[in-house]
Amino acid sequence: MTKPDPSPARLPDPGTTHDVVIIGGGLVGASLAIALEGSGLDVVLLEASAGDMPEVFDERNLSFAEATVNALSGLGVMQHLQGPPAPIRRIHVSRSGDFGRVRLDAADYGREAFGQVVVARDFGHALEARLATLDGVRRMRPARFLGLEEDAGDARVLRVAGEGGERRLRTRLLVGADGAASAVRDVLGIGTRVDDYGQVLFVARLRTDRAPDGTAYERLGDSGPAALLPRGDRQYGLVLAVPAGEAARVAEMDEGAFLQLAQRRFGWRAGRFLSCGPRSAYPAVRTLANELVRPRAALVGNAAQAIHPVGAQGFNLGLRDALTLAEEIRGAPDCGDPALLARHAARRAADRERTLAFSDGLARVTANPSPLLRPLRSLGLVGLGLSGSLRAGLVGGAMGYRGDVPVLCRGPGVAA
Ligand SMILES: Cc1cc2nc3c(=O)[nH]c(=O)nc-3n(C[C@H](O)[C@H](O)[C@H](O)COP(=O)(O)OP(=O)(O)OC[C@H]3O[C@@H](n4cnc5c(N)ncnc54)[C@H](O)[C@@H]3O)c2cc1C
Repeated sequence: MTKPDPSPARLPDPGTTHDVVIIGGGLVGASLAIALEGSGLDVVLLEASAGDMPEVFDERNLSFAEATVNALSGLGVMQHLQGPPAPIRRIHVSRSGDFGRVRLDAADYGREAFGQVVVARDFGHALEARLATLDGVRRMRPARFLGLEEDAGDARVLRVAGEGGERRLRTRLLVGADGAASAVRDVLGIGTRVDDYGQVLFVARLRTDRAPDGTAYERLGDSGPAALLPRGDRQYGLVLAVPAGEAARVAEMDEGAFLQLAQRRFGWRAGRFLSCGPRSAYPAVRTLANELVRPRAALVGNAAQAIHPVGAQGFNLGLRDALTLAEEIRGAPDCGDPALLARHAARRAADRERTLAFSDGLARVTANPSPLLRPLRSLGLVGLGLSGSLRAGLVGGAMGYRGDVPVLCRGPGVAA
């Protein structure tokens, strides 16, 4: 993290007090800026990375829950995708070496799809196109949040470095949307709980001898989870976790050896694996902020909670942070009002707790190799396969309807 500069005297005076300054123009920060359109608030969106787009808009495949698709359509972002997203019509969960298995079909729940798969890069272009249409949002890029000056009571004073040098910004509300290694969180003195799952996730495009038919596969195993998500280009998005100690060896594998490894982990349910694109690797680490708000400050998205990608919940959850905050501050006379921020944190509690428990449970059940636990895990899957209420809970959560659901997320026929 960049250390705060101790010589603020050479910084220009901040002049105006903005209503909201969002640090981080990644998936969640950009979505928040869009959600504040038409609010009449003076919003600044500050993003550190230069170049075409922030690096986080890479080749990873993002599975958007139904609630997310509803919200992003309402925000006018889905309409800017260049190609159609790929629907997930069925979910197949199984465990290597065990008899349990769950098959979920969206049609059984009166839905065409549980969610949609979008490549992060394409989503980045769509967000960018939508941001370009906004009037009320000032964008600073590249510009990096450096730190805070002494509290001004009715505002936060930030120090940022951009192309024109360093400057100060005053804001009634500071939003940290700056990702898992959030500098905003650190500067606010908010502690974290960090859990390393001891896994590295490899992500790649994968071609099989059978084109995807709308089924997403989740495969659990002693080495960690693996998933195949149907993409819109007749390929799958592969996520393959390996124990951290084996990651270097897997990274060096040629395409043939990597395909064999993936095929062994999945079996043949999705067909024969023929080829795959470049691989990227992500360590599986969970970072949870101990608090979501501080005076005139809030954390959203990965800054608030960065979770294991198994279960595909991270952005879905972070978007609900952003939408809830937007609902609270729209129309408020002072969007840094402590009562408003406390209400925001309270509204986020149930969704956050349940989503974290779901993702962590899935990551740990797959990562624990104890033979004593194996029958329990299998029974768990079988139980899930049989019990209507368990399945309905899983499906409702996976579709993004947990806790106090933001208005934009609610689809037709879904209770508030
Ligand atoms: C392999 C993989 C697969 C995933 N699949 C899914 C999925 O299917 N579904 C899903 O919902 N989620 C998924 N996720 C999670 C999802 O990618 C994250 O939840 C999401 O990126 C979080 O968005 P964010 O905006 O909070 O943080 P980020 O996307 O990390 O963005 C933070 C931004 O802040 C900027 N920044 C950082 N520091 C500063 C600073 N000091 N000043 C200014 N700007 C700064 C960064 O440049 C960056 O652009 C996946 C993650 C991985 C790794």
